[in-house]
Amino acid sequence: MSIWANAPAVPSLPTDGVLDAVVVGGGPAGWTAAIYLARAKASPVVLAGGAVGGQLMDTGIVENFPGFPQGIDGPELMGRMREQAENAGARVFTREATALRLVPDAGGVHEIDTAEGTLRTRSVVFATGSSPRRLDVPGEAELGGGNGVAYCAVCEAPLFAGKDVAVVGGGDSAMEEVLAVSKHARRVHLVHRRDTFRCAPVLLERVRTRPNVQVHTDAVVTSIHADDSGRLATARIETRNGGTCDLSVQGLFVAIGHTPRTELAAKAGTALSLTPTDHLHLTGSGGVTAVPGVFAAGDVADDLFRQAITAAGAGCAAALACQRYLEEHPA
Ligand SMILES: Cc1cc2nc3c(=O)[nH]c(=O)nc-3n(C[C@H](O)[C@H](O)[C@H](O)COP(=O)(O)OP(=O)(O)OC[C@H]3O[C@@H](n4cnc5c(N)ncnc54)[C@H](O)[C@@H]3O)c2cc1C
Repeated sequence: MSIWANAPAVPSLPTDGVLDAVVVGGGPAGWTAAIYLARAKASPVVLAGGAVGGQLMDTGIVENFPGFPQGIDGPELMGRMREQAENAGARVFTREATALRLVPDAGGVHEIDTAEGTLRTRSVVFATGSSPRRLDVPGEAELGGGNGVAYCAVCEAPLFAGKDVAVVGGGDSAMEEVLAVSKHARRVHLVHRRDTFRCAPVLLERVRTRPNVQVHTDAVVTSIHADDSGRLATARIETRNGGTCDLSVQGLFVAIGHTPRTELAAKAGTALSLTPTDHLHLTGSGGVTAVPGVFAAGDVADDLFRQAITAAGAGCAAALACQRYLEEHPA
């Protein structure tokens, strides 16, 4: 007898018939949308992609998600959300959506391709998230995930109270990160590769008046180094005139932008449009897009807040709007 005889069957994608709702994305926005849709008997299918759990899988403790007074590990929070969605009745598949064919008319049936077949569905909640841009320098990958390199000061600044940190970037979000972290840290080094800033002047002015902020322009981080315990100890910066210097820091915030996961929408060739920052363009509240029956939630459509709780809230709103759409356009 084969050793696989008693292995549980891998469920196959429901490619027969027309589904009520497909959620694309397995992060806070996708899981929340799935919980709401399942409880509303819309029998959602979730395509959670390869990075099940989304960005919070790359972090340690999450201290700002309500309901967890001691904080909660990012992967654990995502595991709990998935379990809640499955308990409510969502069918979850760790598959990528590879292409979309969206119908521009209300009541139409949209198609979503995966490597294992095509799903046909009356509605879609798009929650494919975003990825923070990386510096791609030696040491960055090893020191992420709670060892000193971070991508969200709003989330992690309090963890660096009394410490020395660096923030890398020159846009609005970098300035916001400096302002957030400088309330907690002893000293903040702002490292920017040019000698001019592309952020709002008012933000730069606020940064410059913070007494614990030191600005390094025409400078790039070239490598990041750990101490013997494996935690961040120094960041090497190189200036345009060839000088180098090691900043002694316990935290380094990379604030050079995010890439929203909108490739599918961009290729879909429909009225789904993108904003100037490449996020999905919403035409109304509840994640409504220009295509009837297609909703978007979370970081894929949010250039401003990018938090787990705002993504979850947007997933809830999109699911409620989707539910209403399904009722108004019965099969
Ligand atoms: C290191 C780090 C630490 C952070 N810490 C905090 C914190 O402490 N508190 C906080 O509130 N926020 C934090 N954030 C921000 C927070 O993680 C995001 O705002 C939130 O995860 C966004 O949720 P989302 O569901 O929109 O997208 P994501 O979390 O990005 O999830 C997107 C999902 O879509 C899936 N997907 C993408 N493309 C496809 C496809 N083609 N087919 C199928 N699935 C697809 C992915 O596999 C993934 O499951 C942190 C972010 C980072 C990077």
